[in-house]
Amino acid sequence: MKVRTRFAPSPTGFIHLGNIRSALYPWAFARSQGGTFILRIEDTDLERSTQAAVDVILEGMRWLGLDPDEGPFYQMQRMDRYREVIAQMRQQGLVYPCYMSVAALDALRERQMANKEKPRYDGTWRPEPGQAAAPVPEGVQPVWRFKNPIGGSVVWDDKVKGRIEISNEELDDLVIARPDGTPTYNFCVVVDDIDMEITHVIRGDDHVNNTPRQINIFRALGKEPPVYAHLPTVLNEQGEKMSKRNGAKPVTQYRDEGYLADGVVNYLARLGWSHGDDEIFSREQFLEWFDLDHLGKSAAQFDDAKLRWVNAQHMKATPDATLAGLVGDLLKQRGVTTDDRLPAICGLFKDRCDTTLVLADWAQRFYGDVTPNADEAAKHITDGVRPAIAMLAKMLEGCPWTKEAIGEAVKETLRATGLKMPQLAMPVRVLVMGTAQTPSLDAVLSLSVRDKVLDRLRSA
Ligand code: GLU
Repeated sequence: MKVRTRFAPSPTGFIHLGNIRSALYPWAFARSQGGTFILRIEDTDLERSTQAAVDVILEGMRWLGLDPDEGPFYQMQRMDRYREVIAQMRQQGLVYPCYMSVAALDALRERQMANKEKPRYDGTWRPEPGQAAAPVPEGVQPVWRFKNPIGGSVVWDDKVKGRIEISNEELDDLVIARPDGTPTYNFCVVVDDIDMEITHVIRGDDHVNNTPRQINIFRALGKEPPVYAHLPTVLNEQGEKMSKRNGAKPVTQYRDEGYLADGVVNYLARLGWSHGDDEIFSREQFLEWFDLDHLGKSAAQFDDAKLRWVNAQHMKATPDATLAGLVGDLLKQRGVTTDDRLPAICGLFKDRCDTTLVLADWAQRFYGDVTPNADEAAKHITDGVRPAIAMLAKMLEGCPWTKEAIGEAVKETLRATGLKMPQLAMPVRVLVMGTAQTPSLDAVLSLSVRDKVLDRLRSA
C-alpha cells in the first residue's frame, strides 16, 4: 500500500506552531514511507476563512520545508464534486430529506435536556419500511440527513489513543446537505479523503468526535476508512489550549524572529513524538526515525525557552555559509552591506547566538559604527592602559592582517608593558566591538577592517 497523508487546515485565524505540528507529522510519515503528502485547504466557512490566513499556511509550510506533493486543493473549488456525491447518495437511498423546522429542533433539544438526555435528532423524517411518510410541508426546503446505521458500533484502532468504540446509538443522522444544497463539513472531509485516496489521517484530537460519523459515511460509500492517528492538544505555557486568542504567534513570526526552520522542525517533532532520549536531530534523522508508534499520548506543552535552546543547538550545527546567507539578508533589510568576511564572522559568533537575529546584531558591528558601552568603557579604558592601546595601534599599522600576526602583536604589547591579557583585551574589545564580551581578541580583530580598528584604538 502506498502511503498518502494530508494536512487539512481551515484558514480561519493565523496558523500557529501548535496547528502546524499537524502538518509536520503527516508530512514526515509520507516522506519516511516514500509516500505522498497532500495539502487541502478547508475553506468552506466563508465567514471566517481569509486569503491572508491561507498565505500564512503556505508561507509557513514553505519556510519549514513541509512541501506538499499534491495540492493545495481548496474545498470551495470542489463543490460540484460534493453535490455529485450527494446526488448519488440520494439515488442509493443513503440519505433522506428532513423537514423539521429549526423551531421544532430547538424544542426537541430542550425536551431532551430537561430529561437529562443527550440532545440528538430523533429520526422523525427517517423513512421506515412499511411506514407511510409524513406529509411534506409546503414551500420548505429540506436538509438531507445521512442514514446512520442503527445498532452496532463503530470501532477503530487509533494509532495514538488505541482502540476506540462508539455505539451507533450515540450518533444521530448527520445533516450532510443544507437546504440550499451546500454540503456540510464532515461530509466534505470524507469525500476528499476518498477522492485523494488518503491512507492515514493524522490530525488533532479535537476531531475524535467526528471520526465515527466519518467512518460510517466511508462505509456507506463502499470504502474502507483510513488509519487514524489523533494527536493530543498542544498547550501554551499557561497550560491552556494554544490559540491565537491567548497569545500564540503565527508560524511565520518565528522566521521573522530569527529561528531556523530546522530548529523549529526539531522542536515541533519532539512536541508529541520521541525517539529514545534524542533531543537534537537533523531533518534527515527525523525522517529516518519518524513513525506513528512513538507519538505521545498526553498533551504537550509549549516551552519558549526550550525552543530557543533547540534553535541554539541548530545554530551551532549550521554551516557558516548557510548562516551567512540568512544573516546577510537580515543585514540587507537593515540597510547594511556585507562582504566575504561574513561566513567567518558567523562561524566565530554562532556558538553564542540562539537566533539569526542575535547573530546579525553581532555581525552588524563589523560593518558599521560601534558605540562602546559606556559602563564597560569607564571600567576598562583607564589611564593605566592607554599607553598600551596606543602601542598596539602602532604595531598593528604594519602588521600582516592575520589572526596569528595580530596575536603576536598583542603578545608583544603585553610583554613590553607588563600588562596581563585581560587588561589589554577588554578595553580593545570595548573600543572595537562596543563590549568586552566577545570571542578571542585576535580572531575578532582579524575579521575587522584595519583602518577601523586603528581609528577606534586611537579614539581611546
Ligand atoms: N480542517 C480541520 C481543522 O483545521 C482539520 C480536518 C481534518 O484534518 O480532518 O481543524
